[in-house]
Amino acid sequence: MTADIASLQNRPVIIGGGMAGLMTALALAPEPVVVLSKAPLGLEASSAWAQGGLAASLGPDDSPALHAADTITAGDGLCDAQVVARITDAASQAIETLARLGVGFDRKPDGSLSLGLEAAHSRNRIVHALGDGTGREIMRALVAAVGKTPSITVMAGFEARRLLVEDNAIRGVLAADPSGAVTLATTRVVIATGGIGGLFLDSTNPQGCFGQGLALAARAGARLADLEFIQFHPTAFDGPARPMPLVSEAVRGEGAHLIDETGRRFMADQPGAELAPRDVVARAVWRHLGRCHRVFLDARQRPGADFARRFPAITAFCRDAGIDPAVDPIPIRPAEHYHMGGIAVDGAGQTSVGGLWALGEASSTGLHGANRLASNSLTEAAVTASWVAESVAATAGRPLPPPRPVALPPPPDPSAVRPILSRGIGVLRDRQSLEAALRALLPLASSSGPAGDPAAVGLMMAVAALGREESRGGHYRTDFPQTDMVARRSMLTLDQAFAAAWDHKPSARRFA
Ligand SMILES: Cc1cc2nc3c(=O)[nH]c(=O)nc-3n(C[C@H](O)[C@H](O)[C@H](O)COP(=O)(O)OP(=O)(O)OC[C@H]3O[C@@H](n4cnc5c(N)ncnc54)[C@H](O)[C@@H]3O)c2cc1C
Repeated sequence: MTADIASLQNRPVIIGGGMAGLMTALALAPEPVVVLSKAPLGLEASSAWAQGGLAASLGPDDSPALHAADTITAGDGLCDAQVVARITDAASQAIETLARLGVGFDRKPDGSLSLGLEAAHSRNRIVHALGDGTGREIMRALVAAVGKTPSITVMAGFEARRLLVEDNAIRGVLAADPSGAVTLATTRVVIATGGIGGLFLDSTNPQGCFGQGLALAARAGARLADLEFIQFHPTAFDGPARPMPLVSEAVRGEGAHLIDETGRRFMADQPGAELAPRDVVARAVWRHLGRCHRVFLDARQRPGADFARRFPAITAFCRDAGIDPAVDPIPIRPAEHYHMGGIAVDGAGQTSVGGLWALGEASSTGLHGANRLASNSLTEAAVTASWVAESVAATAGRPLPPPRPVALPPPPDPSAVRPILSRGIGVLRDRQSLEAALRALLPLASSSGPAGDPAAVGLMMAVAALGREESRGGHYRTDFPQTDMVARRSMLTLDQAFAAAWDHKPSARRFA
């Protein structure tokens, strides 16, 4: 940190130093802003781990309308068509912005962008960098650009613990680093804290991504949307490492098959087989594991001997675990990968609390609906950063008397919540599993201990999942396998979630 706290008062505060947060800070320049990041920039952020890339209709056979149509198909009836149109229209401009900021995208010999294909995209439209190192390259360039922008003050190592709110309007942020608490007085806060994978035992996300922004917003009274929609990646590497390394969909795209320990290709007779949509494959693998099988990705025939050249990063972590993908089947299992739900925002990224914006994976814009189309999340973060920056800049900051002090909550710890959510709100859910999760979460969420915030987020997810008595996209209820004719988004505040949880299980009151 380069400035003392007193000089930073009344600036917009951006919580989160991933792609969403840094692009917002850069788009706000030269307006002075503060970026709070609990980890050093570039670390503990999903953005740096993205392998595939960003979706944008740049090919001669492509158009924003085709990209929008694919997004809406994947979203299973729940996308906001207006938001989809705005984001797919603006995607190519966002790629230009990133290139201008110094991101070295992979290009063809003629200098044009090299466009990859991913599952459920009808055209080649995935812009990537360093092969499967897109996120690393984006974060390198953004961190360098932030370092050259004097209007941005980065407070690395500071964790936001509470938003200070009076009369449903932001008055400040309470944050802490190992040396103690600091209060930043401000009337403008942007939440860009990423996903929720750290709330699950099995996830591909950095473990520090456990929905802290959702808890901050929920405790401030904000509405959250579509929390029940979680994308589980079907092929995370089933070894001891947590978070779980991803075995990219591209491996199945190159012809690898899913087999069990007997060598049986158990998805062969399903529509699309191993290349069926991500949620379909995740459920098939989950069910097979539930029948006491083990599941492997068999790449021995295809890509076979070419595997190490095509997938050097996957080869490296497989070899660390003593597996050579050209010779051995790769053990896999589904893992939490992406949260479609989040803090409900309007077309400018504004939440239901005055002076509070959200973007990136922590937000719910309506782009993804019930299921995210691969590589649409980085695109969403890049595009919406300019919307949020414009809206924040147009909202005058007001110097006000210091906000009322509140006690610093303890550092949040999701470890007690992980087994509960993993059992209760996983790939397959039903009333019984969700009610059991509610019973376990309610006392934790009502406490002021380290599990309080993670449990409050989990409670809201479980209430939303219990309320959705249908199956759609990433939300599958074994007791309600049908998809309703009419799709509706779900909206919830923390107070509503507590009320619903008490109603469901009045006996849980005795734990409070
Ligand atoms: C392995 C993997 C591969 C992926 N591949 C792709 C892909 O190819 N294409 C694609 O579009 N998407 C991909 N995704 C998803 C995508 O990477 C994320 O959705 C996106 O990067 C989220 O960006 P973000 O800025 O919102 O959050 P993040 O990049 O996760 O950043 C969150 C930031 O918030 C900080 N933070 C959190 N809580 C606090 C707090 N309380 N106080 C202060 N700071 C806090 C964190 O330290 C971090 O800096 C992938 C995800 C993973 C895990």
